[in-house]
Amino acid sequence: MTPDNEVRFRACLDDVAAYKPGRPPERSDGRPTYKLSSNENPYPPLPGVLAAATEAAAQMNRYPDMGAVDLLEALSDRFGVPVSDLAVGTGSVALLYHLLQATVTEGDEVVYAWRSFEAYPIAVQLTGATSVKVPLTAEARHDFKAMEAAITDRTKVVLVCTPNNPTGPVVRRDELLAFLDAVPSNVLVVIDEAYREFVRETDVVDGVELYRDRPNVLVLRTFSKAYGLAGFRVGYAIGHPTVVAAIRKCALPFGVSYVAQAAAIASLAVEEELLERVDALVEERQRVVSALQAAGWDVPESQTNFVWLDLGDDTVRFADAVQAEGVSVRPFPGEGVRVTIGEREANDLFLRVASTWRR
Ligand SMILES: *Cc1c(COP(=O)(O)O)cnc(C)c1O
Repeated sequence: MTPDNEVRFRACLDDVAAYKPGRPPERSDGRPTYKLSSNENPYPPLPGVLAAATEAAAQMNRYPDMGAVDLLEALSDRFGVPVSDLAVGTGSVALLYHLLQATVTEGDEVVYAWRSFEAYPIAVQLTGATSVKVPLTAEARHDFKAMEAAITDRTKVVLVCTPNNPTGPVVRRDELLAFLDAVPSNVLVVIDEAYREFVRETDVVDGVELYRDRPNVLVLRTFSKAYGLAGFRVGYAIGHPTVVAAIRKCALPFGVSYVAQAAAIASLAVEEELLERVDALVEERQRVVSALQAAGWDVPESQTNFVWLDLGDDTVRFADAVQAEGVSVRPFPGEGVRVTIGEREANDLFLRVASTWRR
């Protein structure tokens, strides 16, 4: 028998739901399976990126460059921002954790739209701070008037996910600028642009432009989605030097591996080719959305590499039906299903279920 565990944990852990990763699809009949549940990039690594990572792996007996100097310089060149305004981490989610550790604790509030990225409530809760979730509009967009009204003296951070995961719409220029004008200057606004490269709408603000004259804006971006490095865990933050310095204080030493740093640098060097793949995924998104609309689905406007189906109580049944075709998607029980734009064959299997679905 296991003896009673008397270890004492922080109370804020009590309600933390474990992060649910996308289920890997299974099939017993030998037909191919596909994973459309985690917004991964379906393309395999480009040869140059793989070679750079492989070469870096030969140094695995050494700690990585703690300052990630070469990667920071590559990002600095790419975005035209000083190294002092950049931090890298093991995915942009890690940077969000560091940032919250640096800013909030018990009694503080973090405002964000809901539904949004499922990592937000967990990340906030671990700090002991309180999440203030502001419902999305009927079009699955941020409701900035309501978010503005939700800001109190206790609010220290606001998270804005644009385009929004899992629903897809992007925040428009005028609404974001008006919101930023209304937010007190001592409240940090985090603009999570994990899907920035998939945005084709032109009426949007680029976070990298925005942060320059707004010291309370921090931008989070990642190599996981458009650049296809999800397995290596590398993301970056762009913000004012004081904010970036606070994030760096909270970071784990030697977090981003040599392999990840090398792959990220190599990816920036072949960015044009990677972004052509993003163009192809955007075209495929168009195809999938059109097919869904033709089948009578009302899909929120996606500027990402996924689509959202508002299925309510049918969510799990629908996800199971797609899974039976060998394709895993991401169900949010009682709400809807998020489906990544992946290989054409996989998208077709999903569309086959969606187009014959009886609601
Ligand atoms: C995928 C994603 C991230 C980034 O994840 P990392 O792999 O940790 O860089 C951040 N925000 C949102 C909304 C995402 O969907």
